[in-house]
Amino acid sequence: MAVSMANTSVPRWSARSVGSVEFDSRTPCYLVFVTDVRALADVATHRARIPAPSTVVDTRVVDVDAALASARTGWRFLVVGDGAGVARIRARIVAAGAIDEELITVVLGADDGFDAGTREVFCAHCRSTTATGARIDETMTCGGCGVELVVYYHFSRRRHAYLGYSADAENLS
Ligand SMILES: [Zn+2]
Repeated sequence: MAVSMANTSVPRWSARSVGSVEFDSRTPCYLVFVTDVRALADVATHRARIPAPSTVVDTRVVDVDAALASARTGWRFLVVGDGAGVARIRARIVAAGAIDEELITVVLGADDGFDAGTREVFCAHCRSTTATGARIDETMTCGGCGVELVVYYHFSRRRHAYLGYSADAENLS
């Protein structure tokens, strides 16, 4: 299926490395969330580029909401990791009241940013979410209802998952 990039809603990340982020020097503090070892390494490599004091939060050991509770007005949030982890943390920061302009997302995975097997698909039929290695337009089996789903070119930032529809139109009822 030919897909026009202008009409897609695949997640748009700010950057693919902390080294290519445009930082705002007027920001009083950056709260930096990392999802894994690779993200920690990318932040360490480019730490000198961050123009303000910054605190690195390793989300494997520190609760995202607890870290957010320490944030002050004007702080910016930098989220670094693979697509699935970044999308999940981004949703929690937005739920805590941040707006897009206060958020920078850096995704280190390939293609659309998701590492193999970590793309999540929300089933339009049973509303469960299944992690999959399938790519967009490929099929996978829903972990909730067992229906064969096509991974649709729509990413829900709220659900941090792609939308999946039954590959068999007769199952859509
Ligand atoms: Zn399902």
